[in-house]
Amino acid sequence: MKTVPITLFNKIHDELKKTFNSRKTMPLEYRKQQLAQIAYMVQENTEAFKKAIHQDMLKPYLESTLAELGPVVGQAVRAIQNLDKWTADEPLPDDEVDPFHKGWDLKTVKVPRGVVLIVGPWNYPMILTLGPLIGAIAAGCCAVIKPSEVAPHFAELLLDLLPKYVDDSAYRVITGSVPEITALLDLQWDMIFYTGNERVGSIVAKAAAKYVTPCTLELGSKCPAIIDDKISPEDLKIAVRRIAWGKTQNAGQVCVSPDYAVVPKTIHNEFIKLYKAAIESFFPDGAEKSDSYARIINESHFKRISDLIGKTKGDVALGGKSAAKDDGFFIEPTLITDVKRDDALMQDELFAPVLPVITDLDEAISFVNTLPSALSVYLFSTSDESKKKVTQHTRSGQVVFNETYGQLGVYELPFGGLGSSGYGSQMGRHTFEGFTLKRGSIDVPLGLEPMFGFRYPPYTQQGADF
Ligand code: NAD
Repeated sequence: MKTVPITLFNKIHDELKKTFNSRKTMPLEYRKQQLAQIAYMVQENTEAFKKAIHQDMLKPYLESTLAELGPVVGQAVRAIQNLDKWTADEPLPDDEVDPFHKGWDLKTVKVPRGVVLIVGPWNYPMILTLGPLIGAIAAGCCAVIKPSEVAPHFAELLLDLLPKYVDDSAYRVITGSVPEITALLDLQWDMIFYTGNERVGSIVAKAAAKYVTPCTLELGSKCPAIIDDKISPEDLKIAVRRIAWGKTQNAGQVCVSPDYAVVPKTIHNEFIKLYKAAIESFFPDGAEKSDSYARIINESHFKRISDLIGKTKGDVALGGKSAAKDDGFFIEPTLITDVKRDDALMQDELFAPVLPVITDLDEAISFVNTLPSALSVYLFSTSDESKKKVTQHTRSGQVVFNETYGQLGVYELPFGGLGSSGYGSQMGRHTFEGFTLKRGSIDVPLGLEPMFGFRYPPYTQQGADF
């Protein structure tokens, strides 16, 4: 893979600092123009981007359109449309101002954090690098983007294209793997936005701590999909289809993929039947022959998933086949039933098209709470009472009813994790806010000086009684 020599990192970092200090990235017109350039870059190179991502993991073109290219253009355009509003000063509402502070012009002003580092993962290499970049540009920051070396075709394309569209004195791509990222983490950034696994998230947070650098960490988790025992047969059909869809997107290599299903015993058999039917309807000639089904990113993930299927004590009710071929690493959509909490499948995030099913539970919520907090908890139910119970008794970045995966298109709400699934949030305005410092602004009129007589020495009893 084409890389930028490590010996140049200091120079690039200094250049970006210089640009930031020159205030070049501050004017809103500049930011809007750069944001428009991101959208043009994607629109003018649609085929090249889809092809590069396809070469990296055989991601179907439609999945790239819906979850990578479309959202990047959409987020850039929305940032342009909303920038004046997002960046506007926020005066404190009158009824929140302490009477003593009346007339002090209390407001929050939005300032960019500075020169930031964005580190992306391989599974959605485009939206997870350019999405944060859009937030950084909107906020007025300068940025280095480090795409994942595990998706090298995309990384090289971005390295080639980005400088042709945006101001390279403010925004730079650095490709590479552990040596490069380690060298980058040695530098002092004003903020780091990292998306990837928890182990590396912790490395990033430790490196950031050296300079007390704020971070957003977007990590992974096991997202449960709970089915309410009161669900009607018609609703169950839709629920299972939506779970199967979320599980097969990018062959399950999605941070919010439904990791496992919690299914009441009474509908367990029906669930299995419907899951098989849904997979058959998505891939009528089998997933292996389908161009609507991605491959596993590399051999080590392929081996990890194949081993897990081999180790489970549950029953393979559907799929289970894996094949390493010239065109990539294939794992069949797989359903495994009668899985227990101590099963190999229930230890870490699966990141695979494998769905373990848990039944025989008195209490779905207590089971879910034996695992670390997820990015999303899914519940399929039409009962307000069940929705309230799941919301109140579980913890996760988002709680999603009657859908899986589709919440990634809800740019209006914050998306992020807690505990081992990370901290900070992103999506539209929330990404902008992550790269923005909310600075308190206070202007105490000199004309109010008579009010302050009591505070100056020599102190008087009248002042002490104030
Ligand atoms: P990855 O292997 O591409 O790593 C991510 C980034 O970390 C890469 O840029 C890589 O160069 C860098 N990296 C790797 N080793 C490093 C090291 N030792 N020190 C510093 N940096 C290093 O991707 P991944 O981690 O396999 O991505 C998958 C994970 O990301 C899953 O857990 C998934 O759930 C999570 N994820 C989370 C979100 C979210 O928004 N929360 C989105 C996508 C993926």
